[in-house]
Amino acid sequence: MTRAEELLSSVFGFSAFRPGQAEIVAAVAAGQDTLAIMPTGGGKSLCFQLPALMGGGVTVVISPLIALMRDQVRALREAGVDAGALTSGNTDEETEDVFAALDEGRLRLLYMAPERLASGGTLSLLRRIGTRLIAVDEAHCVSQWGHDFRPDYLRIGDLKRALGVPLAAFTATADEETRAEIVARLFDGQTPATFLRGFDRPNIHLAFQAKEQPRHQILAFAAARKGQSGIVYCGTRAKTETLARALAEAGHPACAYHAGMEAEARREVEARFQQEDGLIVVATVAFGMGIDKPDIRWVAHADLPKSIEAYYQEIGRAGRDGAAAETLTLYGPDDIRFRRAQIDEGLAPADRKAADHARLNALLGLAEATGCRRQRLLAYFGEAAEPCGNCDLCDRPPELFDGTEAVRKALSAILRTGESFGAGHLIDVLTGTVTGKVGERGHDVLPTFGVGRDLPKTEWQAIFRQMMGHDLIRPDPERHGAFRMTEAARPILRGEAAITLRRDTIRAAAKPVVKALVSEEDAPLLSALKAKRRALAEAARLPAYVIFTDRTLIEMAERRPRTLDDMAHISGVGAKKLESYGAAFLEVIAGEAARIHPARLRLAGRAAGTLFDRLMAAQADLARGEDGTGKYLSCTHAMLRRIAETRPATLAELDRIGGMGSQKLDRFGVAFLDILADG
Ligand code: ADP
Ligand code: ZN
Repeated sequence: MTRAEELLSSVFGFSAFRPGQAEIVAAVAAGQDTLAIMPTGGGKSLCFQLPALMGGGVTVVISPLIALMRDQVRALREAGVDAGALTSGNTDEETEDVFAALDEGRLRLLYMAPERLASGGTLSLLRRIGTRLIAVDEAHCVSQWGHDFRPDYLRIGDLKRALGVPLAAFTATADEETRAEIVARLFDGQTPATFLRGFDRPNIHLAFQAKEQPRHQILAFAAARKGQSGIVYCGTRAKTETLARALAEAGHPACAYHAGMEAEARREVEARFQQEDGLIVVATVAFGMGIDKPDIRWVAHADLPKSIEAYYQEIGRAGRDGAAAETLTLYGPDDIRFRRAQIDEGLAPADRKAADHARLNALLGLAEATGCRRQRLLAYFGEAAEPCGNCDLCDRPPELFDGTEAVRKALSAILRTGESFGAGHLIDVLTGTVTGKVGERGHDVLPTFGVGRDLPKTEWQAIFRQMMGHDLIRPDPERHGAFRMTEAARPILRGEAAITLRRDTIRAAAKPVVKALVSEEDAPLLSALKAKRRALAEAARLPAYVIFTDRTLIEMAERRPRTLDDMAHISGVGAKKLESYGAAFLEVIAGEAARIHPARLRLAGRAAGTLFDRLMAAQADLARGEDGTGKYLSCTHAMLRRIAETRPATLAELDRIGGMGSQKLDRFGVAFLDILADG
């Protein structure tokens, strides 16, 4: 085991690095200048926290938001790491403590707000305390073109030069321009060791639904996830308030958040969300930078985001702890019209507007996708991938049809009516519906009148929406949203290209698939563990996740450790937390175990029950391998029950049933098969 791995396990309680972390930690620990671009939830903090523990001196961390710094410091202290923050939010006592720890040479990480860099004494302070490394969180704040720009970040380059120490910069924003700016401003243009991690967030389930009854759709989504922390993003401030009220009336703890609220009220919502488990915040995009909560279980968009980048960033706030998280994005013709108008009516130069339309198109393409959404999302960011099995279209492949003819009819109706009408009137023309407007304009004598009678109006609505999604038509803001044909539609109109469309997606989407965090058997224990966490968090006035994240509680519920020693092998349980909280959580698990595990109970009285017990015993014997020195492994109770019930006869069958993975199959496979063979 390397020193880094040792600390990863003993301090943070993690058994393995996340992808990319090991290399970054090695580069930072070796004193290289480093730029790491990782998606949200990739585990950036660890990449400077771990090296900070590996050598002498102090690591200075510059981070844009005071609230986040305070939370990171609290989390580090809970893990037994000496960390402190110097911010304007400190009490005098806290500041004194930080200086005392610095004077005694105890402090390993010093968090600092960028504003502090402007003050004269900072440089000499940082020299005096033996600063070894500068870590810059949210490094894209140095970019003058982004919306997170922080002028004080521009001082960081000078600080690095003056101290002559290495710098490690972290961000989730990967576009070329921002990256170049970071290199120019933080590293004096000297290209640092650069790590670019893939964009995939495999634990986040992706789903879109066309708006049908949007409020009902959001309420149903939230109801299926009651008690879980979530965010609902809305397009307008007014809507955040009405939706928050509707959710509260449906019995959810929910509050609104938008930039029009008093600063104090906003801070209160941020603090509550961070602290509590299970609050829903209904917000505009103003809610974002201020949140650092790893256990957000779901993100819903009540309205379409403005671009594919915005979508990715907003859903990315879910599931940073690595446990399953879900998303739902609603969209409809009005959203598309609104977003197009927003771009067209903006003040940006023409080329910028064209780029913004392209970003919106990429999102609409994702909304109207006919195959795996993740594949499509990653392709946008230049990554190839297999179908993911964790999006709505993988769960339930959509019904497709050749929409070429229908689209040509619709385009012809648009052209023959002078590109002057919206979907309602065009559908009347297509379906041969005589209305006052149709008669007045003489549209009932057009050759296209009634050519679309074969399809119902709802189907035509879905076709027009998809045509907007494929950017074949655009609403013209100067003519009340009348549709104009785009260049992209020309080949279809001329019969040179075909297009595949989805059959009415509204019907297909009726029932959202809910993914449970744990099996039915383990759910009561998970609730009991969460209740314990809540009680401890409230008593210590800590955010619940600082005690343990959902990911950790889920593992406890599934593995049911019986001793402190077993407990130490749960991911997220480091030495200090084991000491502080291990016994309390063991007690909860023991209490539940006394009630006989439901997985076992379900099999009681049957031969499978005996088998289950014998599999349990065999697994306990082999938990650390034949010689008792291997890495700790165990299977969940639900997994053992499935094995006892289905009685696989070969390793291949066992693998298929158990979903054990190769490590566990190697460790337990033969022993299990022996038991099954004579059971
Ligand atoms: P980012 O800043 O990249 O969004 P964080 O540093 O906040 O991500 O980490 C997100 C979550 O992942 C935190 O709860 C953290 O404890 C957890 N985490 C980080 N590294 C690991 C790891 N190697 N194994 C398990 N969990 C990890
Ligand atoms: Zn998929």
